[in-house]
Amino acid sequence: MNDMPARLRALVDSLPTDLYIDGAWHPASTGDRFEVRDPATGDLLTSVADASAEDALTALDAADRAQAGWAATSPRDRSELLRAAFDAVVARAEDFALLMTLEMGKSLAESRGEALYGAEFLRWFSEEAVRIDGGYRTAPDGRNRILVTKRPVGPSLLITPWNFPLAMATRKVGPALAAGCTSILKPASLTPLTTLLFTQILDEVGVPAGVVNAVPTRSASRLSTPLLADRRLRKLSFTGSTEVGRRLLSQAGDNVLRTSMELGGNAPFLIFEDADLDAAVEGAMAAKFRNNGEACTAANRFLVHEDVAAEFTARITERAAALRLGAGTADGTELGPLVDEDTRSKVHDLVTDAAAHGAVVHVGGDPSPGAGFFYPATVLTGAGPDSRIHREEIFGPVISIATFSEEADAVRRANESDVGLATYLYTRDISRGLRLIEQLEYGMVGLNAGVISTPAAPFGGVKHAGLGREGASEGIEEYLETVYVGIGDPTL
Ligand code: NAP
Repeated sequence: MNDMPARLRALVDSLPTDLYIDGAWHPASTGDRFEVRDPATGDLLTSVADASAEDALTALDAADRAQAGWAATSPRDRSELLRAAFDAVVARAEDFALLMTLEMGKSLAESRGEALYGAEFLRWFSEEAVRIDGGYRTAPDGRNRILVTKRPVGPSLLITPWNFPLAMATRKVGPALAAGCTSILKPASLTPLTTLLFTQILDEVGVPAGVVNAVPTRSASRLSTPLLADRRLRKLSFTGSTEVGRRLLSQAGDNVLRTSMELGGNAPFLIFEDADLDAAVEGAMAAKFRNNGEACTAANRFLVHEDVAAEFTARITERAAALRLGAGTADGTELGPLVDEDTRSKVHDLVTDAAAHGAVVHVGGDPSPGAGFFYPATVLTGAGPDSRIHREEIFGPVISIATFSEEADAVRRANESDVGLATYLYTRDISRGLRLIEQLEYGMVGLNAGVISTPAAPFGGVKHAGLGREGASEGIEEYLETVYVGIGDPTL
């Protein structure tokens, strides 16, 4: 036994659990609070203030008041603050890791990875803050001059999901701060604690009052509806399901808001007959079981050439069976519990439906008994064409393998989904790789790579997977408006 529970209790007890508005911590205006639970045990961790519509508008008042001053700060000052936030998050990386594991279940090794990955967005955007560019051009008639400059969009509502509690917040707050935008950050109700610690760090490093406000709530629409209708709000950045994103887009449309939407995934994972199978198995393990399979980039549909399908199935089954399932905080755990019972039931329904449509279960396939929302690594083959598992996002540790014989058929099936976020493809034939990159309708392609997320790359999807990009130089553009000045000078 280690001393983890006492350390965890001390960490949770040290957190702020109120709303952070205008540079200070406040209880909810209603006095309401909601509970946060550990998915490994179902135990209560703590409760946090439950923001009301009134609190949301108070946060917007603060963000609106702070906007002009924040936009007027120098890029270097904004950069230095982000850099200080990066250093502070790295210094508290172990606390962030423990909190994320406690709130959403993934193993500590995964959470440690996210703590550093999440921090990197702050460093990346500290570097982008001083590289906001413009242009000066001569009009085609040779007389007028065209000056192009950028300015911050303005107060932004940032809504994040539970699956990457830190990285999804830093991927939005980082570019918003760098661009000169104030924000209202609403974390998922399952995982508000990571956001509260992150907000505390922003406060400690000196982010001015009102520039970032954090408003956890258990009634997301109660908070977002009045904000999206308010003329002072200028932007919505949302990461979450396509279903909720579609609803928010239509509300944002009424107020003609700038939007960045990172929505659901349904990633195909294609393995060709000439693939390096060792690399494909490694890539599949990462693309499927990272974050317990609860990732928008998670491989969802395995399409494997018939010549290598039996060998791939045998090897991946052996690897999946060896994954250690347990509480994320326990030593050696590789697969933690799923985030809640709804998520686990949905995963199991997809497996049951596939089995009813002829799938063979090679390993796993049943929820683990006892407390906690555990589901074992599962491998299926031969699910019939009508199985829901071919169409829906699994969001759990389940591999479903289908076979193909022709490249064109693999591409057609890969493109059948409405959501085009990420896809993976394993082949040694570089010509085929290049051809498929152009044919696959996805915003991100892993070519012989099972992990593609990095702050330095533009993350985002096509079709119903979303609008806009996060990370890279594209990420800051989402928070900037382009302003053009036509300059007429009679002496020119
Ligand atoms: P979700 O149910 O859509 O929730 C996402 C966020 O939206 C949460 O903060 C949630 O608050 C809030 N929300 C829910 N209903 C809302 C409403 N009516 N109005 C305003 N806000 C609302 O998604 P999730 O289950 O947390 O996350 C899983 C989904 O996110 C998956 O589909 C995954 O693919 C996607 N995702 C996409 C990316 C990407 O970059 N493309 C990254 C990560 C995850 P509550 O928690 O209070 O419900």
